[in-house]
Amino acid sequence: MTDDTSKCEDGHNRKDAHKQPRVHMPQRGATERRRDWAEVPTGYTAELARQEAIRCLQCKNPLCVAGCPVGIDIPAFIKLIEDGDYIGAARKIKETNSLPAVCGRVCPQEDQCEKVCIVGKKFTSVGIGHLERFAADYEREHGEIKLPEKQPPTGCKVAVVGSGPAGLSAAGELVKMGHEVVIFEALHKPGGVLLYGIPEFRLPKDIVGAEIDYLKKLGVKIEVDCVVGKTETVDELLEEGFDAVFVSVGAGLPTFMDIPGENLCGVYSANEYLTRINLMKAYDPEYATPVLRKKRIAVVGGGNVAMDAARTALRMEVTEEVYIVYRRSRDEMPARIEEIKHGEEEGLKFRLLTNPVKILGNEDGWVSGIECIKMELGQPDESGRRRPVPVEGSEFTIDVDCVIMAIGTRPNPLVPMTTPGLKVTPKGTIVIDENTCETTKEGVFAGGDIVTGAATVILAMGAGKNAARAIDQHIRAKKVSIKA
Ligand SMILES: Cc1cc2nc3c(=O)[nH]c(=O)nc-3n(C[C@H](O)[C@H](O)[C@H](O)COP(=O)(O)OP(=O)(O)OC[C@H]3O[C@@H](n4cnc5c(N)ncnc54)[C@H](O)[C@@H]3O)c2cc1C
Ligand code: SF4
Repeated sequence: MTDDTSKCEDGHNRKDAHKQPRVHMPQRGATERRRDWAEVPTGYTAELARQEAIRCLQCKNPLCVAGCPVGIDIPAFIKLIEDGDYIGAARKIKETNSLPAVCGRVCPQEDQCEKVCIVGKKFTSVGIGHLERFAADYEREHGEIKLPEKQPPTGCKVAVVGSGPAGLSAAGELVKMGHEVVIFEALHKPGGVLLYGIPEFRLPKDIVGAEIDYLKKLGVKIEVDCVVGKTETVDELLEEGFDAVFVSVGAGLPTFMDIPGENLCGVYSANEYLTRINLMKAYDPEYATPVLRKKRIAVVGGGNVAMDAARTALRMEVTEEVYIVYRRSRDEMPARIEEIKHGEEEGLKFRLLTNPVKILGNEDGWVSGIECIKMELGQPDESGRRRPVPVEGSEFTIDVDCVIMAIGTRPNPLVPMTTPGLKVTPKGTIVIDENTCETTKEGVFAGGDIVTGAATVILAMGAGKNAARAIDQHIRAKKVSIKA
């Protein structure tokens, strides 16, 4: 900055910069991207990032930090970007968030840090997520990823079950604390929803791969194709000499509507559809993974999962029409606004205030349509959103040959069922002590979607980090008591 603080060294005018609209992140046009798998927004250049960084007021009491579930020092990293120290900015974020390139892309910042940013009270809030993504990408692309200091080896071993954001973040913290960490993952590749759920055009898989390589370089071992509860149980892991087990198996069990026709050929759960395409690369002719290639597809639901499934279906080469069938209005859709906008631009057809009542089939047992009823909004329900009420006699049919159900998921019961002493709630989530993250079974901790039910990447990461701290205390205390 120059002395009068109104101008930065490179001539950007700082004074009143916050009053300018947020610097737009360039993105590829809808026609170009509709049929390919490359990312939609292309990221800030250094010039754009600095233009956006000077919009931050460097508040003494930064509300944005309180709005971030992992408490990133947001003004500090933004200042480093403003000063041109992009690697420094990435390292500042990594003090509290080990997956910034992921979070910069998929976190719902508009409901968290950016929602409370002081600039947003009168103008558009600072683009914190865009800046986070820029710093993380810069560090990765310039090959300057530095391994942090590790504490001396403790001789203790921790097993992490599941390699989604909760498991990865716990493993990263625990290995830095000097513990030996082994992740056991049921699928053949680590990453959880980041890999099998969120599509390439929203989160490129080489970014997830880079984060996992980083953990491996830190010393985390990963065993794939290991279904805990089948291959071996949590009790067996404890008997084999692990001092603690962290259960982070997510909530990937699909739910269905329980309407007639859901067992017809051509009905998928969103998780199965996305796993076939993202993890098993069914879109790539070089892979043998089968997936139905249909012309007219209905996706039922209004969250991120529905938007991901619909935009994925749109990109399959034979697809003509993709419908989003959602029982409330656009304002109540839980998906991120950006995803809804991108879906609209790409040509998704929204059938809002519409609820399926029956999936129709032909004589061969294949989907031929979906019968729906119109809805209207009544009084607010327990979620605070207005309850959708069917409009009598308003049934109509949408002609489709494939239906993808994206109406939510539940915790997978395998680990709780095979671990005596592990208490679960009626919803199947694992009960933990909020302060210690410990379950009702000694030495077994849990976090992420398996505790909260389906939530967000950043909350799962925060849970992994808290659990790592608690596990560290638990095993160090255990060691002291054994010595005494
Ligand atoms: C399609 C989709 C899109 C989403 N989009 C967003 C988004 O844009 N932003 C956002 O913040 N959140 C999003 N979410 C939610 C977010 O991804 C999850 O909240 C988060 O991944 C939960 O992390 P987790 O580590 O608890 O579980 P997961 O990511 O589900 O990881 C659990 C892992 O455990 C493994 N596992 C399960 N059972 C076993 C077992 N018995 N033994 C060994 N391993 C096991 C699974 O294979 C998986 O790898 C999305 C979710 C989906 C499905
Ligand atoms: S609240 Fe907004 S303006 Fe203030 S420090 Fe945070 S990002 Fe900057």
